[in-house]
Amino acid sequence: MSTNSTNSSTPALDFGQKWKLDAAPETTPVQIADEYGLFINGDFRAALSGQTMVTINPATEEALAQFAVAGLADVDAAVAAARKALPAWQQLPAVERGKYLYRLARRLQERAREFAILETMDGGKPIKESRDVDIPEAAKHFFYHAGWADKLDYAFPNRQVEPVGVCAQIIPWNFPLLMAAWKIAPALACGNTVVLKPAETTPLTALRLAEVLQEIKLPAGVVNIVTGGGETGAALANHPDVNKVAFTGSTEVGKTLAAAAAGTGKKLTLELGGKSPHIIMEDACLDQAIEGVIQGIYFNQGHVCCAGSRLLVQESILAEVMQRLELRMKTLRVGNPLDKNTDVGAINSAAQLQIIQDYIRVGQEEGAELCTPTQGELPEVGFWQAPCFFKGVQPVHTIAREEIFGPVLSVLSFRTPEEALQRANQSPYGLAAGIWTDKGSKMFSLASRIKAGVVWCNSYNRFDAASPFGGFKQSGFGREGGRHGLRAYLNLKS
Ligand code: NAD
Repeated sequence: MSTNSTNSSTPALDFGQKWKLDAAPETTPVQIADEYGLFINGDFRAALSGQTMVTINPATEEALAQFAVAGLADVDAAVAAARKALPAWQQLPAVERGKYLYRLARRLQERAREFAILETMDGGKPIKESRDVDIPEAAKHFFYHAGWADKLDYAFPNRQVEPVGVCAQIIPWNFPLLMAAWKIAPALACGNTVVLKPAETTPLTALRLAEVLQEIKLPAGVVNIVTGGGETGAALANHPDVNKVAFTGSTEVGKTLAAAAAGTGKKLTLELGGKSPHIIMEDACLDQAIEGVIQGIYFNQGHVCCAGSRLLVQESILAEVMQRLELRMKTLRVGNPLDKNTDVGAINSAAQLQIIQDYIRVGQEEGAELCTPTQGELPEVGFWQAPCFFKGVQPVHTIAREEIFGPVLSVLSFRTPEEALQRANQSPYGLAAGIWTDKGSKMFSLASRIKAGVVWCNSYNRFDAASPFGGFKQSGFGREGGRHGLRAYLNLKS
């Protein structure tokens, strides 16, 4: 970073325009193989389907690697491997299961830098997020669940616990390794075996995780990783020998999985989309609230299911909040995700960029006013969307109702706490919410009546492995994390 303190030849910080920072690209090299197979029964193998896909770096559009696409026979082999491994894994003393999870967590920490770079290259998120959030949180999740492995009887007192069996786990592209950890850690701690399917645009960290599983000598078949697109996911979820399906992704796919699971006896948990309200009351500390708003919507380019994408501001402070938001957004740096100074990276795929741009167009057509305060040119190659917000949004506008899954904020106003509550709950989703106020009474009154799985007060997008996460309404059901998250991976008997 350049400073103007001692060296007159370095450019000064320009507070009027934007922060002028020297480029600070990550330089640690990471080896990526040309081709990756499926990870089944402890080994990598080519897909019987003979099909492959290519994963690209969304910031450069360069191909990173080719990976196998699992067909029906491949999914069948993965589920069979998980089924075969189940009795021995179940019978292993719980404390030994815990040791595998501890080993996995420690190895992730040791290889954290490599994982962070790979995550950023494959997914487009800024390196400071993959380095400081995704990878450490994934390791924490394994540590946390390692601790539970031999204490399950205490988690559910006076009940007998038994694993549910073979778990099919399907994850999205927004937090590839972290979502794998959220799924695998509780399943293994509870004595289940797993077939995991990462998203087709971000398979690389899950495949590297498979290498770590080999390093820690996890028994073959306990975790299997099959790559591919929606058809692979559907084949896995619909496989008759699967006992539980855990899915994170779009509400649309979640609904098809719920319909398919009905009547099969399979357990199901769904973590779907959201349109989370982020409320600022007139007594809030605005410096902190603005940081919360930035964190809430522009973190990971808005590719966050619980993104605070509907900002509800009390009318008396609306003008000031807009002004402060605009000023703060001028300092956001959009660009090379491998640069440690970058705040907002690349959109994950061309398809997602198209969805975002379509919503921006609809927002303008319906009469809202688009503001894009960030400065500087976007790179010519890659998939980019400058962070932006819409003023003058009405509750009926499409951009106020539908999930955009990009760095686009819709700002609405309210007059009274009751109106804030009514607007917050005016959504088919119920994943998360945020409240900024100086008054504890207002905070508790609103938080207890907002229909959302998580309500952050005077903070936003804070996660903890010990804290359950999940939604209501069309945001899905079931919880991940904490004692509640274990419940989905156990049958309880009295
Ligand atoms: P998606 O639901 O299509 O994909 C998520 C995962 O499900 C991927 O692994 C995908 O291969 C798999 N999948 C797709 N179709 C399937 C099927 N029929 N059966 C089983 N698995 C299937 O999500 P997407 O296309 O990547 O993104 C579309 C929208 O989903 C986004 O715009 C966003 O709104 C939402 N989304 C939400 C989350 C979240 O964390 N809640 C994450 C990613 C995307």
